[in-house]
Amino acid sequence: MTTPESGLPPVSTPTGTLGTDAKLTLTPVQGGVPAFDAHRPPSAELVSDCVHCGFCLPSCPTYVLWGEEMDSPRGRIYLMNEGLQGEPMTPSMVEHFDACLGCMACVTACPSGVQYDRLIEATRAQVERRHERPRREKALRAAIFALFPYPKRLRALRGPLRLHQKSGLSRLLRRTGVLDRLSPTLASMEALAPPLEAREPVPERTPARGTRRGTVGMLLGCVQREFFPGVNAATARVLAAEGFDVIAPSRQGCCGALSVHNGREPEAQRFARALIDTFEAEQVDHVVVNAAGCGSSMKEYAELLADDPAYAERARAFADRVRDVSEILAEVGPVAERHPLPMAIAYHDACHLSHGQGIRVQPRQLLAGIPGLELREIAEGELCCGSAGIYNIIQPEAARELGDRKAANVLRTEAPLLVTANPGCLMQVAASLERSGQRIALAHIVEVLDASIRGSDPASLGVSS
Ligand code: SF4
Ligand code: SF4
Repeated sequence: MTTPESGLPPVSTPTGTLGTDAKLTLTPVQGGVPAFDAHRPPSAELVSDCVHCGFCLPSCPTYVLWGEEMDSPRGRIYLMNEGLQGEPMTPSMVEHFDACLGCMACVTACPSGVQYDRLIEATRAQVERRHERPRREKALRAAIFALFPYPKRLRALRGPLRLHQKSGLSRLLRRTGVLDRLSPTLASMEALAPPLEAREPVPERTPARGTRRGTVGMLLGCVQREFFPGVNAATARVLAAEGFDVIAPSRQGCCGALSVHNGREPEAQRFARALIDTFEAEQVDHVVVNAAGCGSSMKEYAELLADDPAYAERARAFADRVRDVSEILAEVGPVAERHPLPMAIAYHDACHLSHGQGIRVQPRQLLAGIPGLELREIAEGELCCGSAGIYNIIQPEAARELGDRKAANVLRTEAPLLVTANPGCLMQVAASLERSGQRIALAHIVEVLDASIRGSDPASLGVSS
């Protein structure tokens, strides 16, 4: 027997059958603490939208890697349903949830409109509250969340990191693979650190050039601000060149994306409230974001703060004003002159931009507007590169396989420059390219637009002639 539409085989589980058009029926297990509590469990209604057709399976990176039903969207939804039926939260259940990248390729692929993004977000918050992780894992997560959402702490890391890179120790560790043998997690963090550029703080106010078309607030981000300052500087210049006054308050903090994607709901809510306060004080028309993961979370502030009477309405208004930089530039259309950039580029869709925000056409449209630029598509474009927030630190092996697969597909395009819209993807693909021994230049889409508007040549983007 196969599923009615996808032709994929049904899957039998101890308590039900997947892959038929019948809704799941499960026998509740007696005893034990139920997986989910009453605070925002995954919605039973959304779970029941899944008809188990299996259309999402080929686009799910973990299913593609391991071929395991429980590491597919359909399998994970089945596990959520088990939890809703009163099953306890077992370590193996948590393993399958943890292995999900949150890439949302399944949301794009699903013909039934299953909102897996909302389901996994609710599930992850339950896991963080109700599951006791092993001590090492807890310590690693605590360290990550004590560092990454805090730009000042990341800034303090720049000095030692620069020294480490300049001393040649970084090259030695990567070449010999010593760190890999000691700790894949540390090796993965070391390999991901990008070569540090000089700091280039964005002014609090950058005036519009030419006819003014509005005022935008700009999210500086955490990793973006400290590790990719050139991207923020280029974003402010491009927006100003296109007629926007750009307000970038230096006091702004993290948007909470990493926290919300990892089930740290109260922390994410704290960050969201603070960011709303900051931008409300500036009276901007839109809040522009150049990191796909951040933008995708900020557009969901209404759900995150729905139960907070002081912020629910303000969160809704704020989320409505959030725009990815490609989105707003495509929306208003270009006024600044584009100079030719005669070269080929491969464009990589960041998952939180394409699957998370449905933004695929706009970046391509903006790139197509640059004279001389040839855009090449990457095979298996819908498949995540393995970056996925902190996934490449907490699940280094799976992330590495996906990164290497993405790098191989990028190299097949033979383009000398890879362009994307997320700092995580840039770090992930750069590390994989380095492992492959091949080098191509990498840039954020705003850096390409900035180079064209300023009349710079491809060499300014690291492309050798
Ligand atoms: S999530 Fe969607 S595509 Fe995947 S099995 Fe369920 S209904 Fe089918
Ligand atoms: S979010 Fe990505 S990894 Fe997770 S189930 Fe969906 S497709 Fe698979």
